[in-house]
Amino acid sequence: MIKGVKKIIEYLYDWREDVQDRLFILLTSIALTGLLFALVGNIIVGESMLSMVSTVIAFFIFLPMVYFAYKYRKIRETANVVAFILVFIFFPLIYFTSGGIRGGSPIWFVFSVLYIGMILRGNVRIFFFICEMAVAVMCYYIDYTHNELIMPHDDYEFFSDSLGSFIIVSVILTMLMSFQTYVYRRENEITKSQKDEIDKLSKAQSRFFSSMSHEIRTPINTIIGLNEMILRESQSEEIRDDALNIQAASNILLHLVNDILDMSRIQSGQMVLSETPYSPKDVIMDVVSMLSVQAKDKKLEFIVNVAPDIPSVLSGDEVRIRQILINVLNNAIKYTSDGFVMLSVQCGIKHDGKVTVIYSISDSGIGIRKESIDDLFSAFKRMDEEKNRNIEGTGLGLSIVKQFVDLMGGKITVNSVYTKGSTFIIEIPQAIVDDTPIGSIDPTERRSALEEQEYHQSFEAPDARVLVVDDASANLLVASKLLKETKVQVDTATSGREALELTLEKAYHVIFMDHLMPEMDGIECMHLIRNQTGGLSRSAAFVALTANAGTENKALYEKEGFDGYLVKPVRGKTIEAELRRLLPAELISAESRAEGFSSDGTLIISGQRKKASVVITTSSVADIPEDFIKRYDISIIPLTIETEEGIFRDSVDIDSDGVLSYMVDEGREAHMNELRQDEYESFFAEQLQYANNIIHISVSSRVQANSYKAALDAARTFDNVWIVDTGQISTGQGLMAYTAARMAAEGMGPEAIINKLEELKKEVVTSFIVDNMDLLSRNKKVSPIVAGITRAFMIRSVLGFRNGKMQLSRIYFGSREHAWKKYIAYALRNEKTIDRGVLIITHVGLSRRDLLKIQEEVSVHVSFEKIYFHKASPAISTTTGPGTFGLFFWRTENSR
Ligand code: ADP
Repeated sequence: MIKGVKKIIEYLYDWREDVQDRLFILLTSIALTGLLFALVGNIIVGESMLSMVSTVIAFFIFLPMVYFAYKYRKIRETANVVAFILVFIFFPLIYFTSGGIRGGSPIWFVFSVLYIGMILRGNVRIFFFICEMAVAVMCYYIDYTHNELIMPHDDYEFFSDSLGSFIIVSVILTMLMSFQTYVYRRENEITKSQKDEIDKLSKAQSRFFSSMSHEIRTPINTIIGLNEMILRESQSEEIRDDALNIQAASNILLHLVNDILDMSRIQSGQMVLSETPYSPKDVIMDVVSMLSVQAKDKKLEFIVNVAPDIPSVLSGDEVRIRQILINVLNNAIKYTSDGFVMLSVQCGIKHDGKVTVIYSISDSGIGIRKESIDDLFSAFKRMDEEKNRNIEGTGLGLSIVKQFVDLMGGKITVNSVYTKGSTFIIEIPQAIVDDTPIGSIDPTERRSALEEQEYHQSFEAPDARVLVVDDASANLLVASKLLKETKVQVDTATSGREALELTLEKAYHVIFMDHLMPEMDGIECMHLIRNQTGGLSRSAAFVALTANAGTENKALYEKEGFDGYLVKPVRGKTIEAELRRLLPAELISAESRAEGFSSDGTLIISGQRKKASVVITTSSVADIPEDFIKRYDISIIPLTIETEEGIFRDSVDIDSDGVLSYMVDEGREAHMNELRQDEYESFFAEQLQYANNIIHISVSSRVQANSYKAALDAARTFDNVWIVDTGQISTGQGLMAYTAARMAAEGMGPEAIINKLEELKKEVVTSFIVDNMDLLSRNKKVSPIVAGITRAFMIRSVLGFRNGKMQLSRIYFGSREHAWKKYIAYALRNEKTIDRGVLIITHVGLSRRDLLKIQEEVSVHVSFEKIYFHKASPAISTTTGPGTFGLFFWRTENSR
């Protein structure tokens, strides 16, 4: 017995168990005890036999149930059964046997509501709550109407039963509440201590990564440094080849270490971005010159477009921006075997001293499968593993890029067509420091990185004295070897103490100092040398030469008073450049200028293609005057027209007159095909080379459902392609496209244009009159019977658009001229609601005389400022046939 009670107490305090389950056990244990007390009370008060028996029955029902629930862990099920017994049997029974409202029952009703609320869950809880309410109402109602059914209590029983119930329920509630508060507090403590533990672990992990990165960097420094000496000095082609392979492998290893370090910093929330002024021009030029080497190796065309209006100085984390661009461009080159890679840099609207710089990187490479796009930015995920197994990579690059872009408050989007190519668009908001435009830049003016990699001794300074301090002797060897050609006098020290001895004897011009050394670290050593009594190198320039990479370290060394900062592994060129910067000019005795850039060596093409922010595209069924298409650079995807002769591209290979005479004069068959998804995908992919965003103005989804769906499906592959359902066709669609293009030219962003189009699409008024329905019936748009009737009775039909659907609005009998007059009067009937700016008359197979007549008739009703005549596209002509024309105009602002 005592053992059982102990076990139950242990269970109650076991935080791994469910709180509600524990509450159930507590509650039922208390209830059992309570029932025992109630039984004693009943006997003392002299309660009715029925009441006493029900208490005894309750006790012996609950006891095995609780035991069973606890033993077989069927707590939830038991709790439901208990609720059932309490709500439907036990409490109503008590009510009827113990005085009804004049007893303890009302208090027990409250208790059972609490039980339901605290112990039950989900829908069962709601069910029992409703039942409990119903049972209580029923009991009260019967008590009120049929009081004789209730076993009465005299005053003594009433008071003692109520008081007893009140005391028992209060005790139970207090215990429950105290237990719950205890559990809540305890769980809070546990969560807090777990959080502390996680923080500690994450700190330990990132310490581990950063020290691992430091430890790996040190031997790589030796490998890369000494390997550079082999490359410089070896005459044997074979050895040079091996050394080049070692160089490539070490670079990959270094890259990996850097990526892992970045990842761990980001994940532990320790990645801090710096905000310093930088020149975007330098960043772009450096990145391009660096990657042009790889592009050149793969014989890829490298196209660079930089908008001249980018501010010359921005504020942000230059190092990370370089890293982002290098990563994405590197991928573009890596995953493209022929064709081109393109970098376009643009800036958005300047506002409040800020500007969004838009980098767009396109390639004609292998592309990414639609289903892989979602995983693209996940760490360690590589797509198409089978196909890419020969391409080096870890799957970390894009994940880091995404996190950097997010940290900068920017956005990265992907548009890719599998097997055709990809476009990554990165938008980074930056503060403007100097708004002077960078002007046109020529990335080819920078020496190529390849040439930079090839060693050129840049200066000699035989009188210069340099000290290198590092606890790893291999590092000392590397540094002194790398400086050999400059003929500077190099001394080395393996500890801070040794360095302090040397600085007592010699005045060094430059001291390269490792940071992490046993006993005395580099920072401390620098301060001691700077303040050394009798020291001869107090005014030396100090360069931190360390394996601690990262922007925050750079800031640390600057703050401590270092004059320079180099990260291991260091290359000959870099250490020389740093030395050259810090040595007094008079010590430089010979300087050989590096050769200029030879433009025949690289395939950079600059400023050839300008990327627009938004390009408007539409299909060839949209009728837009030619000069609008040219003026606003609207791109059109042609539908195809299938004839007995073959398939022709609408308006490209075939014109309206040609197709009409083919169909009408020669009586041959021709019909237009709707566009397919793959056609849209290729079209959008191509357009994304010229623009960062595409808004496609689609034909009404209710007229060409397949084309519309194909466009929507294709757009899903891209992050930057939007489809607008105009609810129109022909000139209505054209008007929307033209208006959208005008908004894009004014610099409106894609979202704003789309919102405006949504408003405008209700304002285009479209209708047209068809001479006969022969072609419509041949294209199965109307039935042949309707076409036959209209021909026989000389019926001319007017078609209009309602809710995006073409509908028959009117029919006229009689001559063409008569019908036209009627149609024009009908179309222009609401004169006040017509915007008089522009009217477009789209026509199929009409003569000049016909058109003049139409124009005259129009001017009888409304005088438009401009009337454009426009020959409908072949695709529309094949459907409507000759003798068709339509009037298209906007509704006035005030009629909206
Ligand atoms: P990796 O180190 O594998 O290149 P990334 O994180 O940089 O890792 O890229 C993740 C995956 O995304 C790559 O493995 C590749 O399958 C795909 N990918 C990235 N950029 C391109 C691109 N320009 N063209 C095609 N696939 C790409």
